[in-house]
Amino acid sequence: GIETRGVSAWFGDRKVLDRVSLSMTAGQVTALIGPSGCGKSTYLRILNRMHEMVRGASLSGEVLLAGTDVYAAGRRPADVRRRIGMVFQRPNPFPAMSIYDNVASGLKLAGIRTDREHRDHLVESSLQAAGLWQEVSNRLRSPGGSLSGGQQQRLCIARSLAVSPDVLLMDEPCSALDPTSTRRVEETIAELRGRLTIVIVTHNMQQAQRVSQSCAFFLASHDTPGRIVEAGPTDRLFGAPADQRTADYVNGRF
Ligand code: ATP
Ligand code: MG
Repeated sequence: GIETRGVSAWFGDRKVLDRVSLSMTAGQVTALIGPSGCGKSTYLRILNRMHEMVRGASLSGEVLLAGTDVYAAGRRPADVRRRIGMVFQRPNPFPAMSIYDNVASGLKLAGIRTDREHRDHLVESSLQAAGLWQEVSNRLRSPGGSLSGGQQQRLCIARSLAVSPDVLLMDEPCSALDPTSTRRVEETIAELRGRLTIVIVTHNMQQAQRVSQSCAFFLASHDTPGRIVEAGPTDRLFGAPADQRTADYVNGRF
């Protein structure tokens, strides 16, 4: 799994996360919930070392991937990003590139050498895992941009999976999708569960309850940076929240 210990983050001198400690268990889906601006996306970018690509951004604390320090001196950010894939709110396949090459593109970027046969196998198994194979197996040479929004999102999931990551981060992966596509992505998440660590940010409380086993509620205010108010099993967080603010948020009174 992946764990943070006392992670704080800044943009310039503005602190946006305050000592966030959370353990995201392998084989489970962890949902990050909380109002807009509480630092959920920033937290995800810290996990896979994208935060440091933002100008003026800094952080402190520890991030441990399977017990090893993601920010250890000498550890290459590109290596971390290979092991920790990310899917965004807007599906972002290469639109003119074929479906096949979209999935295979991650392999090249990650420096994974494959012969044709092995690559075919990885592309097929990644599309299978993303729940897209049946829909695209007869049109692998069509451009990624020719797929529907929901199919494009599953293509992006397949692209992330091709390099066999340990962790898959998903930042509001369904918020640009219609209900049917959302359902397909949720099914994909359910099928992937158990194979890797999944962390999903969502504003949809029903979705958090459908897909996750663990949940963390983040909160910030105008003068307090984002913190975790409460984290634990999803059933407990929704069924018996320990903090009144959690109860208010999950019941839509925020
Ligand atoms: P949302 O639910 O709206 O996506 P979020 O919980 O993902 O919100 P973040 O995007 O992580 O929140 O933002 C946390 C805080 O950091 C916000 O106050 C935001 O304005 C600030 N922030 C985010 N990105 C940057 C940036 N590149 N430069 C400066 N401030 C930023
Ligand atoms: Mg966000």
